[in-house]
Amino acid sequence: MKNNINTITIYCGSMFSGKTTALRKDLELFKIAGFKTAIFKHSFDKRDGDNVEKTHDGTIMPAIMVQNSEEILKHIDKVDIIGIDEVHFFDNNLGKVVKRMINMGKTVVASGLDMDFMGEPFYNTIYLMGIADNVHKMHGVCVECGGRGKYNHKFVQCSNDRLEVGAEDKYKCLCYKCIKNELEKNNKTFWE
Ligand SMILES: [Zn+2]
Repeated sequence: MKNNINTITIYCGSMFSGKTTALRKDLELFKIAGFKTAIFKHSFDKRDGDNVEKTHDGTIMPAIMVQNSEEILKHIDKVDIIGIDEVHFFDNNLGKVVKRMINMGKTVVASGLDMDFMGEPFYNTIYLMGIADNVHKMHGVCVECGGRGKYNHKFVQCSNDRLEVGAEDKYKCLCYKCIKNELEKNNKTFWE
């Protein structure tokens, strides 16, 4: 366990790949071992309601909603293990805030989308992948062919907002071949 302390872990990948479940499980294990834990979410992501976090399997646990990454620092005096869910929703200062947490002796477990619906990486996620001790690239299952689901296809194309909040109502997990096919049907090209 000692090797896990004062480190950064990032679970990154597509939607429906189990990122939040993995983060929650890590924090539960730390809690069982007697460490003080807290999970933070950006208030932008209100899919689950205020101050709670829900995984796709419906499990609910408390989460502290914050407006920006600096605000997390106000809540962690007595916390050993800090969970930060959906890091792509945060401002780009998050990486620096995480470094400060490490200097304070904290342990950080984060999760975030690696790419938006057009396959473009999210800054905070790749920054944390860069400075992390443990990087876990998570994959879902392609809903079309059962292959390795790596991309989030936004099939309800109401806007080009890369941070548009949604779940099964707007997005589906697809492999490379299937997202390329879906976009080509709509005369769009993937990764060009
Ligand atoms: Zn597929």
